[in-house]
Amino acid sequence: GYSTAAAIENPTTPSVQVNCTQLFINGDFVDSASGKTFPTYDPRTGDVIAHVAEADAEDIDRAVSAARKAFDEGPWPRMTAYERSMVLFRFADLLDKHAEELATLETWDNGKPYEQAANAELPMISRLIRYYAGWADKIHGLTVPADSPHHVQTLHEPIGVAGQIIPWNFPLLMFSWKIAPALACGNTVVLKTAEQTPLSALYATKLLHEAGLPPGVLNVVSGFGPTAGSALCRHMQVDKLAFTGSTETGKTVLELAARSNLKPVTLELGGKSPFIICKDADVDKAVELAHFALFFNQGQCCCAGSRTYVHESVYDEFLEKAKARALNRRVGDPFKAGIEQGPQVDLEQFEKILRYIRSGIESGATLETGGERMGNKGYYIQPTVFSNVQDDMLIAKDEIFGPVQTILKFKDIDEVIRRANGSGYGLAAGVFTQDIDTANTLSRALKVGTVWVNCYNVFDAAVPFGGYKLSGQGREKGIYSLSNYLQVKAVVTPLKNAAW
Ligand code: NAD
Repeated sequence: GYSTAAAIENPTTPSVQVNCTQLFINGDFVDSASGKTFPTYDPRTGDVIAHVAEADAEDIDRAVSAARKAFDEGPWPRMTAYERSMVLFRFADLLDKHAEELATLETWDNGKPYEQAANAELPMISRLIRYYAGWADKIHGLTVPADSPHHVQTLHEPIGVAGQIIPWNFPLLMFSWKIAPALACGNTVVLKTAEQTPLSALYATKLLHEAGLPPGVLNVVSGFGPTAGSALCRHMQVDKLAFTGSTETGKTVLELAARSNLKPVTLELGGKSPFIICKDADVDKAVELAHFALFFNQGQCCCAGSRTYVHESVYDEFLEKAKARALNRRVGDPFKAGIEQGPQVDLEQFEKILRYIRSGIESGATLETGGERMGNKGYYIQPTVFSNVQDDMLIAKDEIFGPVQTILKFKDIDEVIRRANGSGYGLAAGVFTQDIDTANTLSRALKVGTVWVNCYNVFDAAVPFGGYKLSGQGREKGIYSLSNYLQVKAVVTPLKNAAW
């Protein structure tokens, strides 16, 4: 059965001090203009961890002014690319050195297992910083052969001030995906963290300045979407926006950008990703991978494999084993060793997930296991499995963003392609088969930004990530992120003796 509720009583007390709670503007920690603060909570208990400064429009204005000045007059876009890369390399070293404190803050604020934060996420974050540090001095334009007698070259220039807004599910990882390419290309940044998880990015920002980042280049503010977030999106002095979060908010961000100064926007939004288990699958492996694809990070992943399509010939066996695996998932205080699942991030998400579970039951899906909260404090939810799910049920259409696996049955490949592509989302997909033709057919047919064949959630700094359709616009990571942060200027000069 589930690890007992005892595993979530008497939570351990984290051993780090929370020192960075103000806004970080122009190289310093400062209070908000209003003096207001808001609490950030420990999802294990609902207790307050700390009060952080709350940014509003006036603070966004201060932060953008600092970033504007740092871009227009400061050293960052003017220093050699090699010097910029060395700042980022030193930052990565400091992230490694302080990985324990950072992972502790991450688990405390978000609820994710400490072992996941420390052993998987922190190494991935410093690796990604080094990846973009390596790009800084390899960004250059082209010479272009023109039909006319002209010398033509392109200059790849930083865009200017980037506004960036991130969610709470991977606070520090999302921070790194956003700032690293922007800074490597020579831009300056104002980043707003998610109101649920402000702590780790503030600490990392302090480290980045110890690594030599000049003041004003990166400004980090805590605050809420409709106030601070929207002020950043509307700001006339912001030259580019990057957003990760829900599709609904993504649409607002795009609209605010269009109605202000038409700043370009990249969007990483929600998903309802299919995980397709074909008839030739090794069922034990498929069960484990499908479980990981959905339950990882308490189910709070934009790319969660949240529609588990299983071929009818292996469906019964798969279902029985998937249920057993969910029952064995180790849920408890995320600071304890061996824990696979901690609490959901906050009360709002916790209640939303429980509502979806009720909707699943009411719509006629079979609740195989789970379905309830765990313990009587904090935001823990039992690993939940639904079978007999139909495509038109809410639990098969909406992003639940929680530990709720929905299992659907299919008969043939054309059918599953049609059903998989029937979602408005198009972020990722998993394909589980030993047949190379089936793998190729599905990979090409699925309208998604990432196809994982016989694997899932494999992330790499060099591999692009992003969505089709309602899952977003543009790509992050790899070489693709660079173009999000560069303007291309064509310079045309007559060759000797050419007219003009
Ligand atoms: P959200 O999209 O509202 O929040 C994400 C970020 O956007 C936060 O920093 C928030 O402060 C900011 N924001 C909110 N309203 C804004 C506005 N009007 N202008 C500018 N910025 C604004 O997401 P949420 O409310 O935290 O979660 C709701 C749902 O979104 C979740 O249940 C989940 O389905 C989805 N979600 C997806 C991701 C993802 O990685 N794609 C991450 C978090 C949440």
